[in-house]
Amino acid sequence: MSRKAFITGANKGIGYETARQLAARGMTVLVGARDAELGQAAVDKLRADGADAHFVQIDVSDEESVNAAAARIEAEFGGLDVLVNNAAITGGMEGDGKASSGTLATLRRVYETNVFGLFAVTNALLPLLRRSESARIVNVSSEVGSLSLRTDPNNPMSQMVSAIPYTSSKTAVSMVTVLYAMELRDTAIKVNAANPGYTATDLNGNSGFRTVEQGAEPSVHLATLPADGPSGTFWGYLWGGEQEYGPIPW
Ligand code: NAP
Repeated sequence: MSRKAFITGANKGIGYETARQLAARGMTVLVGARDAELGQAAVDKLRADGADAHFVQIDVSDEESVNAAAARIEAEFGGLDVLVNNAAITGGMEGDGKASSGTLATLRRVYETNVFGLFAVTNALLPLLRRSESARIVNVSSEVGSLSLRTDPNNPMSQMVSAIPYTSSKTAVSMVTVLYAMELRDTAIKVNAANPGYTATDLNGNSGFRTVEQGAEPSVHLATLPADGPSGTFWGYLWGGEQEYGPIPW
């Protein structure tokens, strides 16, 4: 039986491409999207390419929707092997974009999706993932939230203007990843964080210099790790160079 992967925010961007690449590797992909029309359209497109794809409605910031999605996955698909927590928002640009220009309302809104949503989805699906022989959880984070890079004066990240909501939400995602990896270290579940690198998607007005094919690569890599693969790591594309790909400092 094929492995089943659930990807949140998979109707477009890196999430859609992650679903496409995992399906191309023979997985059944459950396309998580909050908008039914967009989600079904993505599924239709994936199926037209031969994928075994199914739409699962989910708004990660809504606990009821998260629990309903988990119940549906259990009832309809009977289990889950891979969870890719991909859905996220930036909160947009406020003022001059600097730390003190942000508003509490935006901080709350961004955390509801990027952090609380990821936490809710993970806990709701963990019972199913525990039943898998080799489950993988991939949390899509970002190097913009790397404390090491942001505080290294020799790294361009230390000079980058960054709003608190999105940036700090990704730092939180990284710690959430580490704590789940620690809790699950003696199980068959590996938990890692992916960094797509600066990728052209709607998230950044398509200004990224990487393609979605590249941006999805770290998530696909971590979703398909072998039994002796790592857990509790941060992996993907570094800002610095086009070819820099590998472990990212937390
Ligand atoms: P994107 O094109 O804007 O896609 C984001 C996806 O998340 C969309 O499908 C969106 O659905 C969904 N989403 C947002 N809020 C949601 C919610 N409450 N419930 C369910 N789905 C929700 O962005 P992307 O660039 O592909 O981003 C994917 C991941 O990569 C994110 O975690 C992002 O932080 C990370 N990342 C991106 C970059 C980059 O340069 N692009 C770099 C580093 C990390 P709708 O279509 O309904 O809005």
